[in-house]
Parts: sequence; C-alpha cells; structure tokens
Amino acid sequence: MSTLATPEPPVSPARGTRLVPTRIGTWSRSQIAYIQCPIWCTEDHADSPSALEDISHYGEPDGMAVPSFLGDNDAHYSWWARIECDPSSDDERMSAAHLIVGDESTFEARITVEMADQLADDLIAFATAVRDMARVARVANEADAG
Ligand SMILES: [Zn+2]
Repeated sequence: MSTLATPEPPVSPARGTRLVPTRIGTWSRSQIAYIQCPIWCTEDHADSPSALEDISHYGEPDGMAVPSFLGDNDAHYSWWARIECDPSSDDERMSAAHLIVGDESTFEARITVEMADQLADDLIAFATAVRDMARVARVANEADAG
C-alpha cells in the first residue's frame, strides 16, 4: 500500500464547501489536488482518478421500497433520491445542486429543488391516501372478523 503525500490546501473554501483531496489524472499517472466540494457531498474524490472537468458531487442516497406479502416480501417498487451537481456542465440546471430520483431501472429523473419540493408535497399527499386506505381496509377486516 502506498501513501501519497497530500499538500496543505492553499486557500480557504467558499461558504458551504470544504476543500477535499482529489485524484486528478489516470490510473497510470495521477496526482492529488484540492477542490471545493459541497458539504453535502459524500463522494471520495481521491478514490479513483478522473479529469477535473468530469468531477461531479453526490450526496448520500436515500430511498424506500414497497414489499409484497406475495413473493417473500421482495420489493416490487423502489425509489431512491440523492443530491448531485456537475460544476463543469454547460447546463445551469446540472451545474446547480439538484436531485436525481431513480428506481431499479436505468432511467433517472433530474429535478430542481423547486420540483423536489412539489414532489415531496405529492408524496406526502400519497402517503396520506395510503394511510387512509389502510384505515378503511382495517375497519373492513375487523367487520369481517365479526
Ligand atoms: Zn464532492
């Protein structure tokens, strides 16, 4: 195991960021440089080499799954979301912090923070509807049980 010397950061990071070591280059030739990384980013930028313009920042994903009592409680639907930004993108929506929402497919939805707020409102309304349906089903089951 080799340890690369990491130089001290030369400047203070901008508000909401920290300076993190980043491996710039290729697997055969790389060096450590410091970049500004958003405080929400959980990516280890020193783990594998990349070009500076290819660096994106990613937050910790969170998600949920819907099991079925038919099929050993395997998840039939699942969603995850995480924060991302691609500072080198020409698309302002991509270079700004935004959310990615995905499932088990290869498709991902990219949404602005305003869209995320709307999605959250919709999910809260859906959760309320699911809870109401559970309440109705519970009452029906209790009536059937006599
Ligand atoms: Zn980062």
